[in-house]
Order: sequence, then structure tokens, then C-alpha cells
Amino acid sequence: MLARFLFLTLLTFLSACSQTPAPAEHKHESTEPRNIIFMIGDGMGSNYLTAYRYYLAEGQHQQIKPTIYDQLWTGMSSTWPDDQTLVTDSAASATALATGVKTFNAAISVDQQHLPIGTMMQQAKRLGKANGIVASSQINHATPAAFLAHNKSRRNMDAIADHYFDIRIDGQLVPDVMFGGGLRHFIRDDRNLVAEFQAEGYQYADSWQQLSQLNRAPALALLADSGLPSVLNQELESPLQLMTEKALELLSPHPQGFVLMVEGSQIDWCGHANDIACAMTEMHDFALAIETAKAYVDANPDTLLIITADHETGGLSLGADGIYEWRADLIYGVQFTVRELTRRFIDVEAQDIAKQWRQYTSLPLTDEQLTMITDAQHDRDSLYWVLNQLINDATRTGWTTTGHTAADVPVLAYGAGAEQFTGFMDNIDIGKRIMQLIDASASRQ
Ligand SMILES: [Zn+2]
Repeated sequence: MLARFLFLTLLTFLSACSQTPAPAEHKHESTEPRNIIFMIGDGMGSNYLTAYRYYLAEGQHQQIKPTIYDQLWTGMSSTWPDDQTLVTDSAASATALATGVKTFNAAISVDQQHLPIGTMMQQAKRLGKANGIVASSQINHATPAAFLAHNKSRRNMDAIADHYFDIRIDGQLVPDVMFGGGLRHFIRDDRNLVAEFQAEGYQYADSWQQLSQLNRAPALALLADSGLPSVLNQELESPLQLMTEKALELLSPHPQGFVLMVEGSQIDWCGHANDIACAMTEMHDFALAIETAKAYVDANPDTLLIITADHETGGLSLGADGIYEWRADLIYGVQFTVRELTRRFIDVEAQDIAKQWRQYTSLPLTDEQLTMITDAQHDRDSLYWVLNQLINDATRTGWTTTGHTAADVPVLAYGAGAEQFTGFMDNIDIGKRIMQLIDASASRQ
């Protein structure tokens, strides 16, 4: 047995030696990216990409054609965490993506013993590369947190924010760019991290106007107290695209390249809310940020763009109740998230409900449905689920859970090194391969 093992090992060694390295190695070397843009659609199962394709076709009155997501699709990834559940949360999955190591649900880049696991942003900093995070949630929410902090629980959001400042690599602060929400975790009674970052030379913005004026890294922008407003409820077409453009502008001059993580955070929040109009507008926000990243790769071919999700949220189904139809066209009439509609309808007089419902959703309202609304107005939660059901029924949208599912998620890749992200993989493979590419690129410089 041992002899056979040794023989096979020797054989492998010999065959490795006898390979002619020239063409393969040369090709491999030329595809090591100097810059990496890693985009994560939180909760973005492949069903969300399908839904967005039909939604976009209806909105633009065009025939169905591949979206930016479809054009970049290269593979699929499993997402199971390192416990018995199979269904991951964002913390465990983000840890897998940011470190290449699986852990338990709720963990922010720590292992089962709660010991820290090195992240790709810390690795980038150690190797002399710049790095940044952009998110439409709080920048210290689970997904971005796993790239910069270590904690046994994603809920310890103040301690996670502290790590963004306190963790040093070779004496240096780790993040060069941080854009998103979460101001209340950075300016607190016990600590003012904004002032601490500014004292270390960070430019700071707390409005979109100020964001546009940032002109060098390092920089911090905290654009909301918690998460940014839902795209559907506000004026900007794509806040994530604005932040991504600015992050690329500030990181781009770095002589040794950069690693940027961009999260479309709230696709997941819409999934938890079982809110299809919310989900499609967040998918659009993320798609426009991807367009910006892809244009950057076209202009800078030594850049890898890799896109995936941490898990699927909601068990979204396009078609429901045995009816062979999905009415993507009706989603466009819905002007607000169901949460915002609930806020608006809680006190509306019965005689005004039908008119306002048409105004806010472009959907008809039967007498029976009107009664459902008035019967639920005593309680915000009941009203929420009635309004939610009216929109899901009209559009034939199904959901199986208000949590996550174990469904595989899409992998999209473009640019230098994209060929390493094809076929089926696991989420730790994505993290590991990116970290190998960061190492390989730094060792060539
Ligand atoms: Zn979630």
C-alpha cells in the first residue's frame, strides 16, 4: 500500500517535471489580475437573475434578451455553512468568500474556536495593494464586515466598526475606501470613529454631494444612519453605481493595484420582505454598478471582475398557485416598497383606499380586496402581509420563506483570470482562488 502510494507520488512528481511549461504557464501568468473587483449580490439566487431579465424586457418594451448578468454568467456555487443547517446566513457565507474558510452561521471571519481568520483585504494590505468596501447596507453589516473584522457574532456591530480602525497590518490601517451606511455605529457616545479616521488622514463624506467631491484615498463615506434607503423609495436611479464609480476613481491610482468589494446588500432585504418590486429595483441598482465595473475592466484589462451571491433569499418563484404566468409587466406600476406602502395605508380612510392603491401600484382593487385592507389596518404587521399578498397575487410571484434557502447561486466573471471561475464550485473555492490571484499578482510586482 505504502509502496503504491510512493510510486504514485513519484509518478505525479515526474509527470509534473516532464510537462513543457511554456505555453500553459505563460497563459496563466498573463491572466493574473492586478486589480480585483469582487461584487456580491446579497440573497441573489439565480431565480433573481431570471426575474430581472423578464422585468427589464417588460420595462423597456423590448423583446427578451440577455441582461448584463446573463452576459457574464460563468458558473454556479454552493453556499452551505460549517454546521448542520445547509442554509447559510450572510456572515458565514461572507467569511467563506472573504477568507476561503467555512465557518458557522453568525460568525464574522472567525473559526469554530472563535479565532480570527485572515481576510483578503488584510492580505491585500500586507502585499502593498489598496482595498475598499462599498455596500448599500451599513458598511459594518455582515457581508462587508467579514472582509475587515473578526467577531463571533455579526450582531456586535459597534465592535465590528471598531475593528475597521483598530486592526493594523504592518502598522497601517486596512481599508482605503469605505462607502455605505451605518453612521450611528461610527459616531457613538463612547467613541467617534469618524474623527479617528480623519485624524489618520481619511477624507470624509456624509452626503452624496460630498461623496462626489472626494478626490483621493483613503476615504470614508457614511451616507445613512443605518442602511441606505431602498432604491424604490428614493430618487437616485443607482446609489450603488455612484459609490462604485467613486471607489474605482480613488483606488485606481494605487501603483500596486487594488481589491474592491461591492455589495448589493438590499436584494436580500427585499427577499426577506417577500417584496418583488423592491427586489427588482435593487437588482437594477446592482446591475448598473456591474456595468460600471465591467466598463472599468474594458478600459483596464489587467482587472478581474467576479460576481456572486452569498445565498438565495426567500425561495423566490416566478409563477405561483398553479398558474402558468408571471406578470413582470405589473411590477413597474408599484411605486414603493411594501413597507413604505404599509406606512402610507395604515391611516387612510376606507373611501380613499382604492384610489390611492391605484395611484401607488397601478393595480386594480376589488371590493373583497378593499375589505382585506380595511380589516388589517388595526395592525401594521397584518396590513403589511395583506398589501404584500395583493402584489404577489397580481404578479403571480411566489415565496417559500422569509429567510434564506440552500439553493446554489450564480457565479459571473469577466476580465483577467475569469477562466478560473467556470463550472461548479463551492463558496470557499471563490475566496481561495481570489486570494491566490492576489498573492500571484503581488509576487510579480
Ligand atoms: Zn439575509
